[in-house]
Amino acid sequence: MASASSAWHGATADETLAAFVTLPDGLSGDEASRRLAEAGPNSLPEEAPVHPLRRFLVQFHNPLIYFLFVAALTALLLDHAIDAVVILLVVLVNAIVGFVQEGRAEQALGGMRALLSPHAMVMRDGMRVSIDVANVVPGDIVALEPGDRVPADLRLLRARGLAIEEAALTGESVAAEKREDPVAADAPLGDRSSMAFSGTLVAKGQAIGVVVATGSRTEIGRISGMLHAVPPLVTPLLRQMNRFSQQLTVAILGAGLFLLAFAVLVRGFNWADALIAVVAVAAGAIPEGLPAVITITLAIGVQRMAARKAIIRKLPAVETLGATSVICTDKTGTLTRNEMTVRHVFTASYALAVSGSGYAPEGALTADQGDDAAAISDAADILRCGMLCNDARLDHKNGKWSVAGDPMEGALIALGRKAGLDPDHLAREWKRLDEIPFDADYRYMATLHRAPSGEHVVFIKGAPEAVLALAEPQADPARWEQLGAQAAGQGERLLGFAMLALPGAPDRIRFEDLKSARMLGFMGFIDPPRDEARRAIAECRSAGIAVKMITGDHIETARAIARQLDLADDPKAMSGADVERMDDAELAQTVDTISVFARASPEHKLRIVRALQSRGAVVAMTGDGVNDAPSLKQADVGTAMGVAGTEAAREASEMVLLDDNFASIVAAVHEGRTVYDNIRKVIAWTLPTNGGEAIVIVAAILADFALPMTATQILWINLVTSVTLGLALAFEPPEPEVMQRPPRRADASLLSPFLLWRVLLVSGLFSAVILLIFFGAQARGEDIATARTMVVNMLVVAEIFYLFTVRYLHMRSLTLRGLLGTPSVLIAIAAVTTAQLAFTYIPVMNEIFDTRPLSLLDGIAIMLVGLVLFLALEGEKLLMRKLDLFEELRS
Ligand code: ADP
Ligand code: MG
Repeated sequence: MASASSAWHGATADETLAAFVTLPDGLSGDEASRRLAEAGPNSLPEEAPVHPLRRFLVQFHNPLIYFLFVAALTALLLDHAIDAVVILLVVLVNAIVGFVQEGRAEQALGGMRALLSPHAMVMRDGMRVSIDVANVVPGDIVALEPGDRVPADLRLLRARGLAIEEAALTGESVAAEKREDPVAADAPLGDRSSMAFSGTLVAKGQAIGVVVATGSRTEIGRISGMLHAVPPLVTPLLRQMNRFSQQLTVAILGAGLFLLAFAVLVRGFNWADALIAVVAVAAGAIPEGLPAVITITLAIGVQRMAARKAIIRKLPAVETLGATSVICTDKTGTLTRNEMTVRHVFTASYALAVSGSGYAPEGALTADQGDDAAAISDAADILRCGMLCNDARLDHKNGKWSVAGDPMEGALIALGRKAGLDPDHLAREWKRLDEIPFDADYRYMATLHRAPSGEHVVFIKGAPEAVLALAEPQADPARWEQLGAQAAGQGERLLGFAMLALPGAPDRIRFEDLKSARMLGFMGFIDPPRDEARRAIAECRSAGIAVKMITGDHIETARAIARQLDLADDPKAMSGADVERMDDAELAQTVDTISVFARASPEHKLRIVRALQSRGAVVAMTGDGVNDAPSLKQADVGTAMGVAGTEAAREASEMVLLDDNFASIVAAVHEGRTVYDNIRKVIAWTLPTNGGEAIVIVAAILADFALPMTATQILWINLVTSVTLGLALAFEPPEPEVMQRPPRRADASLLSPFLLWRVLLVSGLFSAVILLIFFGAQARGEDIATARTMVVNMLVVAEIFYLFTVRYLHMRSLTLRGLLGTPSVLIAIAAVTTAQLAFTYIPVMNEIFDTRPLSLLDGIAIMLVGLVLFLALEGEKLLMRKLDLFEELRS
């Protein structure tokens, strides 16, 4: 198979660069836009969306609709043409609602995906910049890091310990080692080790490469044609709902058949009348509009979370978030601001204090004893190490200093400048030859340089123990440990520094070379906690959600930050080494009591999540690196960082934080609880209408009196008024106490005993007021059509009053806030009132629904009955609260 990129794996790196007319410092911006216009965007054609007509027709594929079709047909055969038309109209409206809500949910998620469009690091005009993957062009020089998705097909120019997972392309699950040397021109895809292919995942190492193919000309583009399939919109809750409504439909149809037989055989109805009655029961008892309203509630939740910087990648997370009982979070950048400043420098003979804040090179180094100048010159090596073993850059724009890259490394450059060193000058004098990138598993970074003297020197920086482990034995660990504990106790983050000269001046460093290094000293950084994290933690504590900090940092630093944030009353800390010593059972025993896990590696994270889950917890877990992917997948709500996170972490997660901020997780939990509450409200509100309708009609058949409502009137209520009013609940704001109660149990069923009780009670009350009005009207000598019109209006008024009650499931609704309602509630009520007036007074509607205009007095009577109902329901809440029954019935 000949391909556009097949030529390059056999060519040398220089040949490839020449062919694409590119230099190692990249294309110019103008050239890149010219090439973009020529080659087109670097993206694959989107999966063709399902045709709208098809999506519309699918709405009719559902047992309920089949039933209604049969009913319409029967009505037609029995000469009830108007009923047949109404049923068909209702079916149509139902399909349109379903169609619209599906579109809306898909739109919500689609919008989320656009917010998460991946980026690539490329060289443009000699600078490393992050650009949208779609804008990558042939000839671009791309940098790869662990966790990146390769943005296009690349010929590697330089690779360091690079391994890439190519399963998407070759099916091979073990990551393939990559290097820049050319391979045989006829090598199969899996053996082209000089190439990195679009869509594959960098497992470890670093590299730069030149883009040789983009978009559908890449290998993956030619194989699949599409990458991002739309995730399905089913969630456990929707599945539970679908199952529930199917069971309900079957039960109702069964009961209907029984009633039919009863009416004909026992009561002596004729077949046609009996059938119409049964259709009425079935239409009344089935909550036709419920699934649509629930899906919309979920979609609104997704949008509200997005507004609070939490992007949902998988819809089920919306529900799971509401049940979250433990949040495991990183420290740096999530709980803290990730604005690092060096506060202390410790060398073998001096301790220096550093003043100034932020990344501005303003501030001074003062020695604890003796002469400042002598101390600074003693610190020359450690300062240089900090500036050279460093990938960050400081930018000075509009009088503000900012960091591009790791903030801790930015702080090291700021420190060097305070001591009078110039980073560019230093980089020219000490040319970098090779590096070992930082990894959370071994916790250090090393770079190899040619010193001005010609010697080849390695600079190492990393977690103090990790660096000490590479140092010569006479490094006096005791002194360093004591200094370290002192700085860490004040919440300072510690970094150790070392250097060593390599004999034989090699151009590469290997892990084996890193031994007997000369310890240069330590530095202590401050990284202030975020104020909003402190508030969010307080909110979690009142909401019964445990927060656990899992960090790679030093145990004392972590504990000090935990104390500043008030993570727990007396935060207990444990180190990764302790986790290692325990088996799974022991870990599960202790995990609840520990708030801080320090020096923890990604493997420890995975074990901690499992231990928490074995205790029944629903766990949200943050992560950013490529090795965090397993624990993100394991967690119930894997949460990736949108700014600092890798593509690999994002893809393994359910949710992405746009601002990497702990407070955004808590905001999402808050929204998750609200969504779940609102769905419960929708259910608690919808079902009693159906229950009330079913009860009165069954009663009519069994006790042999005229039906209080016709089948078409019932469909009007269920599909027009119920859907409109129910939808208002989807927009309900959170109840004020939503973060003051413990998380719900994950396995609790949607229809809790409490909800079931409410549904039964209100169904009973609804049927009572219907019968009251129906018989009352007839007793006053009204004809049956007028009595039925009153019944329908009564039921809608009851629905409206009940809507106000249900807005607060547990709390009083008889408050100013409760009575004023929200705009969506008021709009829904205005819409339904208008519809109801039309239903009652417009001649066409009178014709279609067999209704009669009502007198003002009738209207007032109906309103009064509604008010009494409202007061009765509020009385029930009061009683329940007095008797303390909510807690018992909650689960
Ligand atoms: P955190 O959970 O706080 O983000 P990390 O796993 O990122 O912790 O880092 C753990 C430790 O590794 C830090 O305390 C620090 O000592 C060291 N470290 C972090 N980043 C770097 C880096 N870029 N170079 C060298 N050492 C680092
Ligand atoms: Mg980190």
